[in-house]
Amino acid sequence: MAKPILLSVDDDADVLRAIERDLRSQYGADYRVLGSGSPEGALDLLKQLKLRSDSVALLLADQRMPRLDGVHFLQEAMRIYPEAKRALLTAYADTTAAIGAINEASIHYFFMKPWDPPTEHLYPQLDDLLGDWQASHRPSYEGIRVLGTRWSPRSYELRDFLARNHVPYQWIDVEISASDPETKLLLESLGPDAASLPVVLFPDGTKLLESVPSQVAQKVGLRTRTQTNFYDLAIIGGGPAGLAAAVYGASEGLHTVIVEREAPGGQAGMSSRIENYLGFPAGLSGGDLARRAVVQAQRFGVEIIAAEASGVRMEGPYRIIKLVDGSEFSCHALMIATGVQWRRLDAPGIDRLQGAGVYYGGGATEAISCAGETVYVVGGANSAGQAAMNFAKYAEKVFILVRGSSLSSTMSQYLVDQVKETPKIQVWAHASVAEVHGQTHLEEVSVLCSDSGKIERVPASSMFIFIGALPQTDWLAGVVERDDRGFLLTGPDLIVNGERPKGWTLERDPYLLETNVPGIFAVGDVRHGSVKRVASGVGEGSVAVQFIHQYLSKVQ
Ligand SMILES: Cc1cc2nc3c(=O)[nH]c(=O)nc-3n(C[C@H](O)[C@H](O)[C@H](O)COP(=O)(O)OP(=O)(O)OC[C@H]3O[C@@H](n4cnc5c(N)ncnc54)[C@H](O)[C@@H]3O)c2cc1C
Repeated sequence: MAKPILLSVDDDADVLRAIERDLRSQYGADYRVLGSGSPEGALDLLKQLKLRSDSVALLLADQRMPRLDGVHFLQEAMRIYPEAKRALLTAYADTTAAIGAINEASIHYFFMKPWDPPTEHLYPQLDDLLGDWQASHRPSYEGIRVLGTRWSPRSYELRDFLARNHVPYQWIDVEISASDPETKLLLESLGPDAASLPVVLFPDGTKLLESVPSQVAQKVGLRTRTQTNFYDLAIIGGGPAGLAAAVYGASEGLHTVIVEREAPGGQAGMSSRIENYLGFPAGLSGGDLARRAVVQAQRFGVEIIAAEASGVRMEGPYRIIKLVDGSEFSCHALMIATGVQWRRLDAPGIDRLQGAGVYYGGGATEAISCAGETVYVVGGANSAGQAAMNFAKYAEKVFILVRGSSLSSTMSQYLVDQVKETPKIQVWAHASVAEVHGQTHLEEVSVLCSDSGKIERVPASSMFIFIGALPQTDWLAGVVERDDRGFLLTGPDLIVNGERPKGWTLERDPYLLETNVPGIFAVGDVRHGSVKRVASGVGEGSVAVQFIHQYLSKVQ
């Protein structure tokens, strides 16, 4: 924890030096001693310290300074650091003014110049003041702070990114906490920059305005470029399948990199509770599973970069991967583990309100914000059931909208049972979203009831959509063979009427999880015919490494 600050202000350089020296020799072990030669400079400094979340214990100002005297400086400074103890340094002639200031201007003490010896005329009184300050001081939050508004899609995107990458941060909703004195001070210290939300404040005093995840990724030390130009194994996608492949590959000596565009964990990382993964009888959250897998992969030396793959080409035995920022790197074996992404719901208003009350997927960061509200979950599969159970912990009421007559045909029985036993959750059958309404954020949902043919318009502030998913594999078009929905074909799927795929020149068939390009493998949800489960993704990622070893043993 950073030491609290003692700040003295005096336009007389000799006096300033002397007071700093005496403060440092007595309090230097527990406090940082700073000085400023002008009250204006000191006010600027205090604003900077506020943005860095530093604590200020004492403000000690000379009374006679040009432009702004000590009393007025301390009154100004009190607006920024109301808890700091305030003291004046005065000459004998100013004693009356100083006594007046104690009574009228909330100044705690005044010291006479010169204060020699300090053991008599300075330290005992300061000990009292600092003791008082310590007793009532609550240390301020020292990590990353994000200022934004709940209904801003950009704020949502940023918070989701930080949460899923396990970067701790403090969220300050500037609308909800507008009357909070600390928030007011922060916004005041930011000045005109406060309009450029979301603002991210870092403990080193730097800030990002209108921040986007890629800027924050760099700042918090998430790598966005590979460390070298070549790897034995490159994995695109850091979901369960990609992470498992990385752990097996790296533990067996392959120099391995994962490229992940959002956050390691993939879809599984959004799951509030995975109950059917072997070895965790009480279940575990997807976030927890992802965190453990990342630590395990890194222990074996896997490099993980925050970036998006946008193209691939072949040069002899090399597979060259292009990233969205235009950079490239190469590998011998490439694994595509890019999973699937949520299908879009096609209803008027949805696109406009996405991130402002309408969310695809779990919205882990949103669950707490829904306290006391009514939440709508759209979809009838396990992911919708898990999300409903999670929201029920905070929300007043959760409606699950399903097209069919019940959940039983689409959701695992254990979840159907949990939903039934949770009074806050109500399943709304034969229901689909016809339209969503709201100016700046979701306010109402029109629900089409297919049994009656009527549309019901209900108030709503949050709606979470879980209506199935599709792969995003256009960046592989023309290189890797895909089915008509974009899933990647592998192994036996590529052999048609006993013929190997077009352009295949090797003397063997494609391996089980290999695509039509030798050395490019596909695992997990992105693969045609895959079972969409954590365990099967993990299994495929692990098994594929065996084929990669066989492939690499023949690569020149
Ligand atoms: C809410 C929810 C709950 C679930 N609950 C369960 C459960 O309880 N039990 C269970 O077995 N299964 C569950 N599933 C399904 C399970 O999570 C998936 O089957 C599994 O995550 C698939 O793993 P994957 O690695 O193949 O793909 P994903 O998990 O989809 O990961 C793919 C990753 O690739 C990244 N990516 C995509 N394109 C690119 C690119 N071009 N460049 C870089 N990165 C890219 C994505 O950002 C993503 O992180 C759940 C799914 C969801 C959404």
